[in-house]
Amino acid sequence: MEKYDVAIIGSGLGGLVSAQILSKNGYKVLVLEKNEQFGGALQIFKRAGATLDTGVHYIGGLDKGQNLYQYFKYLGLIDKLSLHQLDKNGFDIITFDKDLQEYPLAQGYENFVEQLASFFPQERNGLQIYIHKIQEICRSVELYTMQKPKLDSFYTPYHLIDTKSYIESIIQDKKLANILVGNNLLYAGVPGKTPLYVHALVTNSYIQSAWRCKDGGNQIANILVRHIRENGGTIIRNKEVASIRLKDNLASTIICADGEEFTATHFISNITPSKTYALLSEEVLRKNVKLKYEQQTRSIAGFTLHAIIKKDSLDYMNYNRYHFKEHNTWVNHAYNAVNWPENMMIYTPYSEKHRVLGAMCVMDEHEVAGWANTKNVAPIITSRGAAYEDWKQQKIDIVLQRLIELYPTIKNNILEVDASTPLTYRDYLNTINGSMYGYSKSIDEPYNAYIPTVSKVSNLHFTGQDINLHGILGVTLSAFLTCMPFVDMDKILNEVRSA
Ligand SMILES: Cc1cc2nc3c(=O)[nH]c(=O)nc-3n(C[C@H](O)[C@H](O)[C@H](O)COP(=O)(O)OP(=O)(O)OC[C@H]3O[C@@H](n4cnc5c(N)ncnc54)[C@H](O)[C@@H]3O)c2cc1C
Repeated sequence: MEKYDVAIIGSGLGGLVSAQILSKNGYKVLVLEKNEQFGGALQIFKRAGATLDTGVHYIGGLDKGQNLYQYFKYLGLIDKLSLHQLDKNGFDIITFDKDLQEYPLAQGYENFVEQLASFFPQERNGLQIYIHKIQEICRSVELYTMQKPKLDSFYTPYHLIDTKSYIESIIQDKKLANILVGNNLLYAGVPGKTPLYVHALVTNSYIQSAWRCKDGGNQIANILVRHIRENGGTIIRNKEVASIRLKDNLASTIICADGEEFTATHFISNITPSKTYALLSEEVLRKNVKLKYEQQTRSIAGFTLHAIIKKDSLDYMNYNRYHFKEHNTWVNHAYNAVNWPENMMIYTPYSEKHRVLGAMCVMDEHEVAGWANTKNVAPIITSRGAAYEDWKQQKIDIVLQRLIELYPTIKNNILEVDASTPLTYRDYLNTINGSMYGYSKSIDEPYNAYIPTVSKVSNLHFTGQDINLHGILGVTLSAFLTCMPFVDMDKILNEVRSA
């Protein structure tokens, strides 16, 4: 049996970036993906001929010299990606029922302050303090500034400061304080809990520059897969890993659901740590540690509606709109089925050919608990049953009604509608209960942010959104952390900086 240097379970962004770094640096890598498509949350699907994204609506930090640009250049991505920059004066627009103003979050630090100060001139000083603070926090995370980390995590001295309290301590106007976190659906914000560093790392990258992938985020996965193969790597789809056999306390063999086996010297798991430990042939965790992993709080699940509409019925919007019922943007954590959706992220993906109106909202996993034992993931497409379809249609109707109120021209111009529910995300990504961003980061559970990349089995490593931070930027940086034990990271980061 062929033996690989490193076998990687899962081809999400973390798995692919790790495979690209390692294969570029001489390792013989193998990537095993359970789905038909590579990429995890980068996957796309088609309805009425239009390309729909699963989990990448916009990406930050991709202008020349910015951190993700440099990392993507090193990975061979940047020159091949087809991107479109969002509106510089408002990549995100925050709006409320009964308030005719559209409040922009703009690109560029000065521009960000100026755009909001035009609505809240008395808060200019607070906005300056805010914009300097988020930059200061980002500078404290070494990989964010392309420096070698001293620890096996995104350590920052700001992990015990909560976002809401901090912002309210520098901004007196309540509406503005809410607008500054108006896109907190991006990190499943929880008032009094979400650490300021999470808000800063995510928000800062979009303020630097904000981009959409033209015709789908799967291009990131496709380019990486091509490079990994060019580097001699093997990458196989429709290969679900069913277990990992241990020998002498080390991982030795992967056994797939179809019975095929693969051996390697090192292993990297792109799936959540508790599910990775469950794959091991022997128990390696003490009972209390196992329980800790299983009970760690996870970010809330999501529901996304995709409406394919006649192209001339709605103009393309070069921004994302976060719409709320009240002037309170901290609503995503307190899921309330009766008032749902209290917040929607509304967007039109960039496409020359089609017009899609998307709306992403949070949804509690308990909504779908009755169908938790159904499974519907390509290549095995099975119905979850009529009751589920009825329930889903009711939710679609609620969201669609809200969209028609906001965009009346789409009425009677809708060609097809579909929605992804927490079960869709659970089945396609193998996340627990369809949680959108993995372990939730909280000032009350700071250890959630410090899951080491090396597991309790010394040749089994972790990567992906559960390690440090979710999102395209967070997962990319974490993959570099995962690869630290294998490569000369000083040399690599030098290449990243000068790429
Ligand atoms: C709805 C939604 C919207 C989002 N929007 C944005 C956005 O606009 N911008 C942004 O930056 N980020 C966004 N994100 C977050 C971002 O997409 C994710 O954080 C990131 O893509 C996760 O990457 P990952 O490496 O953790 O792997 P995942 O994407 O979770 O992929 C894991 C892979 O492992 C595979 N796998 C699982 N189990 C097995 C097994 N047993 N055997 C083989 N393979 C297996 C899965 O099939 C999957 O392909 C969004 C996420 C969601 C859910």
